[in-house]
Amino acid sequence: MFKNKESKNFIPFNKPYFSGDEIKYIKDGISIGNISGNGKYTKLCQTFIENKYSFKKCLLTNSCTDALEMAAILLDIKPGDEVIMPSYTFVSTANPFILRGAIIVFCDSKKDHPSIDEDLIEGLITNNTKAIVSVHYAGFSCDMDKIMSISLKYDLYVVEDAAQAIDNYYVDSHNVLKPVGGIGHLSAFSFHESKNIIGGEGGMLVVNDERFIKRAEIIWEKGTDRAAFWRGEVDKYLWRDLGSSFLPSELVAAFLYSQLQNLDLIQNKRKIIWNNYYESLKVIGDKVKLPNVPTYSLNNAHMFFLICKDSDQCFKLNKFLKNKNIYSAFHYHSLHTSPYYLEKHDGRILINCDKYANSLIRLPIYYELNQNDQQKIIDSVICFFNENH
Ligand SMILES: *Cc1c(COP(=O)(O)O)cnc(C)c1O
Repeated sequence: MFKNKESKNFIPFNKPYFSGDEIKYIKDGISIGNISGNGKYTKLCQTFIENKYSFKKCLLTNSCTDALEMAAILLDIKPGDEVIMPSYTFVSTANPFILRGAIIVFCDSKKDHPSIDEDLIEGLITNNTKAIVSVHYAGFSCDMDKIMSISLKYDLYVVEDAAQAIDNYYVDSHNVLKPVGGIGHLSAFSFHESKNIIGGEGGMLVVNDERFIKRAEIIWEKGTDRAAFWRGEVDKYLWRDLGSSFLPSELVAAFLYSQLQNLDLIQNKRKIIWNNYYESLKVIGDKVKLPNVPTYSLNNAHMFFLICKDSDQCFKLNKFLKNKNIYSAFHYHSLHTSPYYLEKHDGRILINCDKYANSLIRLPIYYELNQNDQQKIIDSVICFFNENH
């Protein structure tokens, strides 16, 4: 894939953003003399995000996968419990629940959007259903009013996989903006290098339902009440519950803090790039589908994708761009047909999910993508479709 990496005009699919202040904060972290977890920078990051989005409780983790594992433990997922989630998602949406013995009930995507089709969820609920995971694909919010009302009706938990959705907002039925990740009982974000705001690896659990806050902190700290101990609330810390080592080093937190300081800068730039793709590619809107921004979601410009007519066209476009030193990327394989889950899946065919698995392609979007390079990508894509591939 990276054969032409060294050439001068190579346009990668992604390039991590560096603020330039990472080293300054990491140095400061080192000078404090304590670089394990839950120190100055972990607290600064958590407080920054809690204040910006009015989240009740944030806990930094090593990954979004970690945060979802914490969610599965917090919800007491047991063998035989069923968890409903889209099939068009990353393995980390499913694995944490499978680790606790759950059965995954995969739901199809919407006809006009890769996220879960909320209207199909109710038909998948049984007496064993415990939770619904809403994955905000490409950062666009799911229809959270619909999902929360189903959860209320059937007494189910909602976990938001907000890995891609930092700094985005859901528009509720009264036109009130709610930060994505602040609606379900629990939410998980990612700060992986491929996301908008990064720590290299990194993630965050957001606890919106206050009942989970105390236990979340214990699970986070290997099952002990060490966090309470550091606050002076207990004399010594003890093994209280299940847990693991979910908290990141202060070095990661310091790096992440420098990114958070530049959040608006990063987001504004990504939005300019996203909007430029959208406006410029409208001319081929009759030949290829552009992203459909749901009416109930704002856009955090995490991803720009196109939906081709079929997999053949998708491969051809990928190759056509590669010949011009532009690296595009396909996305998820349907989880319900993956080698690990195929035998476990209940056999339902998920047409829309398979369609996105075959025909969705992503274009480069990153802070450093300059106007010339973006124009080259746009011209190449238009050229491809006008040549009638
Ligand atoms: C990136 C991503 C994850 C995993 O994030 P990590 O931080 O790498 O664990 C999970 N779910 C979705 C939808 C993602 O895009």
